[in-house]
Order: sequence, then structure tokens, then C-alpha cells
Amino acid sequence: MFVTFLGGCSADGKTPDKETSGKKVSAEVTDEETIQKETETEKETLPPEPETDEFGSTIPTTMPKQKLKRKPVSYAGIDPSKPMIALTFDDGPCANTPRLLDILNKHGVKATFFVVGKYVEDNASTMKRMAKEGHEIASHTWSHANLSTSSRETIEKELKSTNAIVKKITGQTIHLARPPYGSSNELAQQVAAELGLSYILWSVDTRDWESRNATAVYNMTMNYVGNGSIILCHDLHSTTVDAMESVIPALINSGYQFVTVSQLLTYNRGELEAGEIYSNR
Ligand SMILES: [Zn+2]
Repeated sequence: MFVTFLGGCSADGKTPDKETSGKKVSAEVTDEETIQKETETEKETLPPEPETDEFGSTIPTTMPKQKLKRKPVSYAGIDPSKPMIALTFDDGPCANTPRLLDILNKHGVKATFFVVGKYVEDNASTMKRMAKEGHEIASHTWSHANLSTSSRETIEKELKSTNAIVKKITGQTIHLARPPYGSSNELAQQVAAELGLSYILWSVDTRDWESRNATAVYNMTMNYVGNGSIILCHDLHSTTVDAMESVIPALINSGYQFVTVSQLLTYNRGELEAGEIYSNR
């Protein structure tokens, strides 16, 4: 998986010269200059003092997280005694998606689709079918943008336009988004919070995009699956859809029940928080 951490990186290759700064303080002017510069650098890199109120309590600099505002998630048909997993499919909808829906339907399995907004209109009938057959529809941004390197304006546009097209085509309101490459940052989280979205990563990465091989996808899934797994797949690859022909019956035989991401994540903990990142790792 890829998680991008931006900021806070100090690996600039400059190591302070401790010999110069520590031992020959009074010897040369250049040493004093060095010390002065180092002190300034230290000041710059120190985190700002947290603000406190009149009682000495820290004042939070970010808004408190709000719970997602949506209709309560339905748990109809969930068996509390059985382990739960969520199959997730990214990067569609595409030509492979109807065949995947057939397989899911055959086994009575509900999945979660993180759709790329710009493909939604051209695959409107697939999207309508997805919604009608009870799958959860979530966002994978409009153009598969890397949110951690995008401006606020771009992040807003990527998320809002996907929400709007899904609403227009399926009538469903999106509450979950998966940032492409699993990559987000504080700004992307802030925007998600404002739009009432939670970010969803994964706990089992089938690496189907890399192997493009149904047996490999089967093995990755069966080797790493456990109660509460969020399994990352891509319906963009026909080999992944091929894999589901064997993966789904094998998981059913192992005693798992398939739920949507919202069902999986809220069943025990209650409603999710907007702007928060969930992975169930
Ligand atoms: Zn993707």
C-alpha cells in the first residue's frame, strides 16, 4: 500500500557540526556564527506552543470531528455470530463491472464500490444496477487524483463532483471515500470533514493490479483474510473478476459473511466521524 506522509521531513542531508559548536566556542567568530545559526534553526523547527484557555486547558486548533450525518446503517441479515468482511472494488465502473455484479448476485454477496466519478455517467446502467442490488457506492475521486498533492480547490472539486454524479445517476448519497493510492493529508481530511465524508483504506491488499493473476489474488485473499478485513480489489482488471469466481465461495466456506464497509465499520463502534481515516488494520 502507499501512504504518503508530507511535511515534517528533515532529511536534507545537513548534519550540524557538533565539534565546531561544542568545543571551540570562543576561538573563532565563524564558530559563534555557526552556533547562532543553529540556535535559529532550532527555534524554527520547534513546534508552536499550544494555546491554552484561562484554566490552562489546551485549546484545540482543529474543529472537533462530527459524526457522519446519514440515515442509520441497516444491519438487516447480519449474523452477529459470524465473522464479517467487506470486499471493496476500486477504479470502476467499467466493462468488467456487470460480470462482477453477476458473481456477487449469484452468491448473495454485498460489496462496496469506490467509483471514479468521471466513469459514472458512461456506465449509468451499471451504476443503477449496483445501487438496486444493495451494494454500497463510495467515492474514489473524480479523476483518480492524488489528494495529498492537490490544492484545496482541487480536492473539493474531485470529491464534490463525484458525490454529485453518483447522486444524479443512482439517487444515493456518498458518505465514504477512498483516496487514490491511499494517500491523504491534513488538508484532504479537513475537506472531507467539511463535506461529511470519511476516508476508508484497507486491511488486506490483494495487489491484483500488480499480479493480474486470478490465482495470486485468491492466495493473497485467503492468506491474509480475518474477521473485520477490508479487502482491496480493482474491478478494472478482468483477472480480479475471474478471481472472485473462486474467492467468494472459498470465503463463504470458511464461514465469513460479506457486509458493506459502512456495516462493517459501524456495527460495533457506531457512526463514523467525518474527516477520519479508517482501515481496520
Ligand atoms: Zn485507485
